[in-house]
Amino acid sequence: MRAGLRIWAALPVLAAGGCAHAPLPAPDAPAIAAAAECRSAGASLYFDFEGASASACAVTGERDFALLVAPEHAAPINPSPWYAFRYEAAGDAPVTVTLRYLGGWHRYAPKWRSGDESRDLMAEVSDNGAKAVIALPPGSGVVSAQEVIAPADARADLARWSAASGAAVFTLGTSHDGRPIEAIRLGRADAPRLVVLLGRQHPPEVTGAIAMRAFVDALATRADKLGDVQVLVVPMLNPDGTARGHWRANRGAVDLNRDWGTFTQPETRAVKAWLDRLPQGVRPALMVDFHSTARNLFYVQGKDEASPAQQRFLAAWLEGRENAFAGYPFTLEPRNANPGSGTAKNWFHATYAIPSYTYEVGDDADRAATRAAARALAESLLPALDTAAP
Ligand SMILES: [Zn+2]
Repeated sequence: MRAGLRIWAALPVLAAGGCAHAPLPAPDAPAIAAAAECRSAGASLYFDFEGASASACAVTGERDFALLVAPEHAAPINPSPWYAFRYEAAGDAPVTVTLRYLGGWHRYAPKWRSGDESRDLMAEVSDNGAKAVIALPPGSGVVSAQEVIAPADARADLARWSAASGAAVFTLGTSHDGRPIEAIRLGRADAPRLVVLLGRQHPPEVTGAIAMRAFVDALATRADKLGDVQVLVVPMLNPDGTARGHWRANRGAVDLNRDWGTFTQPETRAVKAWLDRLPQGVRPALMVDFHSTARNLFYVQGKDEASPAQQRFLAAWLEGRENAFAGYPFTLEPRNANPGSGTAKNWFHATYAIPSYTYEVGDDADRAATRAAARALAESLLPALDTAAP
């Protein structure tokens, strides 16, 4: 808490001035120092796990706390105001936590988990969205902006895919903080057509991770039927940002999905280096990058930049299925590349002339429907890929 006081003392000024012009630290300044815990007589908040946010915390009453939810670097930054903490409260009297957003506004309905129990919590949100008050259930639990899917959970996913497919998990490279960028390859290493699946460039985009899990689960159980297709799966491309509760960036204060092409960051470079070492005769055939946004959609190539083969693939895989999945309607959003935009979508398309899509899942998408749609889309992927053969 001590480390957070300096930031906290400035809050009334920031609130009066409005969030948009808040004097955030310069991009090269040290990250906002976080409180590891915040303790009152009746309850305590802790920020001591992978995925916890680096929120400055203040005790405002015996059972009341305020958190400053602030981004990891100065604006401009995507308004994905991540928060996550755990708490322990004595007795049954209510405990409240007031979230105050710096450089963002309330976007994510609070999720609560304790043991095997989980549910959404109500939040009383101010008219301008700059403040949200959450009443915590008695006892203890974790409260987070979305479900916490941390690097350890991605490792567990990789282990499950390894067990299902017989493929080995391997390390592509190392993040700034020294965390491994782990991957698995489903199918034969000499299979000529490579599908690349990327996840978690952006830490708060958990619904994309939920879809990716189900998508890869479906492929891993069919790994022996992939034929001349192999699949590289990188589920946690930004482990530092995820572990540190970032809104967007990696530990280098860079949006990784603006780094494809320049490759200034170890996480993107690790994938590029692996692609550069592909055996002769193996070539990327499709890239899908999982993210989250306000609603379900796929960013795909615009008609005038998609080759006939790419258009055949899109027609076979996604077109006409926008309302095919109960509870998971989606749209297709063709977008031509901005030269130099640095997104994985544009880099893979420009480099390999392949279909290259961003798989965006709505923040509030029904989780079961998200998983069901992802499984169905994975199951129809191979036949669709065949239509794109030259
Ligand atoms: Zn994203």
